[in-house]
Amino acid sequence: MNAEIIAVGSELLLGQIVNTNAKFISEQLAEIGVNVFFHTVVGDNNSRLEEAISIAEKRADLIIFTGGLGPTKDDLTKETIAKKLNRNLVLDNEALVSIKEYFSKTNRVMTANNEKQALVLESSTVLKNEYGMAPGMFLKTENNYYMLLPGPPFEMEPMFRKYGCAALLKSLKKTETIHSRVLRFFGIGEAQLETEIMHIIDAQSNPTVAPLASDGEVTLRLTAKHDSKAIANEMLDKVEEEIKNIVGEYFYGYDDTSLMEVGFRLLKEQGVTISSAESLTGGLFQSQITAFSGASSVLSGGVVCYQDEIKQNILSVKETTLQKYTAVSEECALELADNVRKMFSTDIGISFTGVAGPGPANGKPAGTVWIGISRANQKTKAFQLNLAGGRNANRNRAVKYGWFYLIKELSK
Ligand code: ATP
Repeated sequence: MNAEIIAVGSELLLGQIVNTNAKFISEQLAEIGVNVFFHTVVGDNNSRLEEAISIAEKRADLIIFTGGLGPTKDDLTKETIAKKLNRNLVLDNEALVSIKEYFSKTNRVMTANNEKQALVLESSTVLKNEYGMAPGMFLKTENNYYMLLPGPPFEMEPMFRKYGCAALLKSLKKTETIHSRVLRFFGIGEAQLETEIMHIIDAQSNPTVAPLASDGEVTLRLTAKHDSKAIANEMLDKVEEEIKNIVGEYFYGYDDTSLMEVGFRLLKEQGVTISSAESLTGGLFQSQITAFSGASSVLSGGVVCYQDEIKQNILSVKETTLQKYTAVSEECALELADNVRKMFSTDIGISFTGVAGPGPANGKPAGTVWIGISRANQKTKAFQLNLAGGRNANRNRAVKYGWFYLIKELSK
């Protein structure tokens, strides 16, 4: 079965609201193995809606509508469908009772046009609206299935989950379910990652492998279709392993997680404490740790050492280091990481020093950053970055890299 989602509402076309209903319904349909091939948005206009329905009927088995079920004149979804399918609109007593109850509960006067909301398409399955007035509908003709849902997400989402989905599953004779897994990578561009695993992407049809880039990260969505969840998971495991054999060094987590979440979890699980010396990042790293509850068991504290005097006087960076190599150097990052670790008596010390931009500083171009990681009894490491964003993008990206190196350090 394949589906098209038609969102009805001029406010969507005017850019006043985002079509989150299509996103929600697509995700839900994927889970029950229904392929969504098209999203359509059409205004509150009778003839254009009719046109959209005619197109959808030819290319989709199931057409799901959202919006336009309200009481006002511009709400015309069910009227247009009724005309198109040559079906009557009939009063649904249960819906009328619940609309009346809604008005008496909220002490509001019911007007005649509110009754319009209790009209449903003849011979349709009525989907109860537990959070509003307009009921949803599900019906079948010789060639298509139609589902009508209200526009407001807080009404539509529970209705779809509880009643819409069940009605669909009942109609589908048998369907594979779709199982997805998102692999998250950092420190590698989308183009490079895709090039490295192109042969896997090309060879796969089940599971499929789809890359997506966002804010310095790349994700790969692996999607397997199978009746059995266990077998689908085995299929996903196999492709995941093949991918990790090639680009595993950039992998850091699954699904909806983030670098800081993974980093914080590892610190906590391993009972490792940390402190930071932050120049260009001005405390961003510490701020991100303190956003987690339980941060005090991990973070001791840190120093925002923006000026060279602070690096020298508070964090004991040698004067010769600053003179010979400047603050934006491997040597300075190493000393900052070592000294902050000792100063706060933590297991790890991390340092961030660099040129946020927009202009160059210390003879180094904007975006030059050094990150140091110091651990007791281990060789202190420093990593150089050459970032190409604006000032704040560079500061934020530097912190992301800090988390990434930390994750690698803790995953050894
Ligand atoms: P109502 O009974 O509230 O009139 P309705 O079914 O007629 O509901 P619309 O009037 O089309 O729905 O939309 C009502 C509100 O629902 C919109 O103003 C908007 O806030 C939200 N909404 C509608 N469609 C979408 C959509 N596709 N994605 C996200 N929100 C939507």
